[in-house]
Amino acid sequence: MRILLADDDPVSRSLFGGLLRKSGFEVVAAPRGDVALALALDKDAPRLLILDWVMPGLTGPEVIQRLREQDPDTFRYTILLTLRHRAADLVAGLQAGADDYVRKPCDPRELVARVQVGQRMLALQEHLATTNRALERLASIDALTELRNRRSVLGGLEELSQRCAAAALPLGVAMLDIDHFKQVNDTWGHPVGDLVLRTVARRLAHHVREPDLVGRYGGEEFLVALGGVEGETLEAVGQRLLRAVREEPITLPACTLSITTSVGMACRLPGQALTVPALLKLADDEVYRAKRTGRDRVCVAGEPALATGPIDRAA
Ligand code: GH3
Ligand code: MG
Ligand code: MG
Repeated sequence: MRILLADDDPVSRSLFGGLLRKSGFEVVAAPRGDVALALALDKDAPRLLILDWVMPGLTGPEVIQRLREQDPDTFRYTILLTLRHRAADLVAGLQAGADDYVRKPCDPRELVARVQVGQRMLALQEHLATTNRALERLASIDALTELRNRRSVLGGLEELSQRCAAAALPLGVAMLDIDHFKQVNDTWGHPVGDLVLRTVARRLAHHVREPDLVGRYGGEEFLVALGGVEGETLEAVGQRLLRAVREEPITLPACTLSITTSVGMACRLPGQALTVPALLKLADDEVYRAKRTGRDRVCVAGEPALATGPIDRAA
């Protein structure tokens, strides 16, 4: 593990540096507080810092405070080295954000032991961060289809909406609802229904690229959002998604199914005051229009229904 050791006294630097190196640590040394701050803010900088209290440039507590202000998301473990022995000074150092302190002159074994405590804290924090990232992923992915779940796709849509508004770009959404899906479940059973959902999800995901969004919005409903797309281009995307699902029958061990969807689309043009929920409501209304007018088609808010030809249903 690497340690940043900041001390203006060359004797201390070489003494503590030598001691830590002998204990197996890699030491990056700094002779001033401002130099220590710059080094600590570097990419891949050591996360364990030993800082002398009084140094030119910045004091140890000032370095800690600046790090907290300038890079609050990085977890660091900091130990203050000090000649000060008054309780009030130590309280001030800890209140500035130090995790621990060592009084000079110190027993070499004590310094190493305190560094090892810091090492354990850093390992624990790293473990927590990894677990949190895994949990965040789990909480945002739909377990069946492995697409974003409703919460995640809605969160992503709000962000995309803000980016589009800021860049004066249109924002298009498509809601897809599988036609007569209840019949699939009723005829072939729930596990087959699940396989159909996974296949549809895979086909949609294949047609949607970053930074566009695709997610499972509900049971057999999917949501696609596209930034910067409007009019005929948006409609063409809807047609492509419709074909992506229906073009190839889904071949399963028990049966071969032709699946179709009803697609409702809506678009917010730059400058238009339309919230994400209002945009989704427009798209949802279009799904129902597509259902009412025969299913297996794309309907776009403000335009006549677009049928795509005869329904080819094997189920
Ligand atoms: P429509 O063409 O009008 O959309 O008819 P539909 O049968 O597709 O719609 P309906 O809303 O009546 O039925 C949706 C069905 O989707 C009912 C529900 O049991 C099923 N469903 C929802 N989630 C899942 C799931 O995770 N797995 C399976 N197998 N079925 C699901
Ligand atoms: Mg539905
Ligand atoms: Mg349906």
